[in-house]
Amino acid sequence: MGDQLSRDISALKDARKTKDVILMGELWDETTSVKHHKKKIILVLSAMRHFAEQLKKDGWRVDYQKLDDKGAARSFTALVKRAVKDHKPDTLVVTEPSEKRVLLEVEALEKVLSIPVEIRADERFVASHETFDAWAKRRKQMRMEYFYREMRRKTGLLMEEDKPAGGAWNYDKENRKPASTDLFMPAPKRFKPDAMTNDVIDLVKDKFADHFGDPEPFHFAVTRKDARQALDHFVEEALPRFGDFQDAMLTGERFLYHSVLSAYINIGLLYPLEVCQRAENAYLSGEAPINAVEGFIRQIIGWREYVRGHYWRGGEDYVRQNYFENSRKLPAFYWSGDTDMACIRETVTQTREDAYAHHIQRLMVTGLFAMLAGIDPYDVHEWYLIVYFDAFEWVEAPNVIGMSQYADGGALGSKPYAASGAYINRMSDYCKNCRYAVTKKTEEGACPFNALYWDFLVRNEDKLKGNPRLSQMYRTWAKMDKATKLSYRARARALLGKLDAGERI
Ligand code: FAD
Ligand code: SF4
Repeated sequence: MGDQLSRDISALKDARKTKDVILMGELWDETTSVKHHKKKIILVLSAMRHFAEQLKKDGWRVDYQKLDDKGAARSFTALVKRAVKDHKPDTLVVTEPSEKRVLLEVEALEKVLSIPVEIRADERFVASHETFDAWAKRRKQMRMEYFYREMRRKTGLLMEEDKPAGGAWNYDKENRKPASTDLFMPAPKRFKPDAMTNDVIDLVKDKFADHFGDPEPFHFAVTRKDARQALDHFVEEALPRFGDFQDAMLTGERFLYHSVLSAYINIGLLYPLEVCQRAENAYLSGEAPINAVEGFIRQIIGWREYVRGHYWRGGEDYVRQNYFENSRKLPAFYWSGDTDMACIRETVTQTREDAYAHHIQRLMVTGLFAMLAGIDPYDVHEWYLIVYFDAFEWVEAPNVIGMSQYADGGALGSKPYAASGAYINRMSDYCKNCRYAVTKKTEEGACPFNALYWDFLVRNEDKLKGNPRLSQMYRTWAKMDKATKLSYRARARALLGKLDAGERI
């Protein structure tokens, strides 16, 4: 599968070059399960082709289906049926797919094929499903921080005996600085497309012309060798300042000190633990400070593993949760970027061009606006699944449904990430280039986030008032004079009315 491009994947553990066939297929049903960003399709298909090529060079028998092969199978089931007819295997060995929909399809194969199908755990993750379940069962409330500490102990990363390196588990309080333009700002490593990638670019331009996003310039790594180079480059150039500016946003600086490695980890070109170990070595050799390295490792063995646990515990209708019962349609500017809100314009434009936005842009710009405006969380989920180069449902859905939209009612996080324009202004320079004034509250020309923030809290008071982490906000609202309250709500009504009418805001 397109996200199992790892030589050590469990399905290949005891494979024999002389006897076994490795089956790989580019599938129409998968490339169109939603209208994925063109760059994401190019990345996955090109990485699959390169991986298959390497396996063949190493002496493996690979049965590889290209998307545009004559009579190509469209689905996993059709692909495997055809391969079983051709190769007559005794058994089919599969590593567990990362997505529930695909797992159901694979689980049904045995009946269709009448040969045994062995589904093996995906051992690239630190926590197996059993480990996560056992941890979750011991908790009244699940919180990432405590899970993360267990993962530190389990992996030994940044541990000095049984104590956290540097004396603290978490250095986030040192990590919330705004950034300013820096002539020496690093950029992620870029790779020139080779002939194989150029073929895929042409294929995607031809077959997926109506999908979102620019296919070129394309400069992602598509091989393990290049992804390793991207990792080295990040550790040497950006990791030392990753912590300080992890939450910062700057106009025109799309990557800041972020690694841009998520897609390589998700599709299997890099192993999560090797990425963490490379970062830990930078700390041990004095190349990067503890706040940067701890913050980076926490994202991978903490957040990444934690959201996966939520996804698999969440049941089949995980993506349909809708705690606030929101039903507003996703505004068209999520696709076009055509809005006067500079923060959203900047984030959507770079998303269209690069299939990338960093975590705080996803959470505190596009995610925040959608939650405050009461957009249907399922539509928000679909948007995120489409637009990012690293979007696979197991990691995208909990980040959207749980973390960013609070549509799971607090199963994943302890409070909604609700904020007014002041947060975006503190962490970015976007407000300087905006038609709206972030300091204005309710009048025409005031930042939309300001009124929508209070309106969101008041609209959902029955669901949120009991949350101790929001009690200060509700006290502030209670103290506000009636006229101010009314004008906040009137301004929010006017903005939401414009959204519903499809008018520009
Ligand atoms: P860095 O900032 O350099 O972080 C290092 C690594 O940590 C990442 O490469 C990633 O592997 C991991 N990581 C960081 N935060 C998270 C997180 N919250 N969950 C899981 N892993 C994390 N990540 C995806 O991989 N796929 C998605 O589809 C996705 N959708 C998201 C949607 C929303 C609304 C939000 C708020 C976050 C989403 N994330 C997703 C998490 C995170 O934003 C991305 O992993 C990160 O921005 C990728 O860029 P990077 O590699 O430069 O990350
Ligand atoms: Fe975004 Fe408001 Fe700032 Fe404009 S003023 S960039 S809308 S936060």
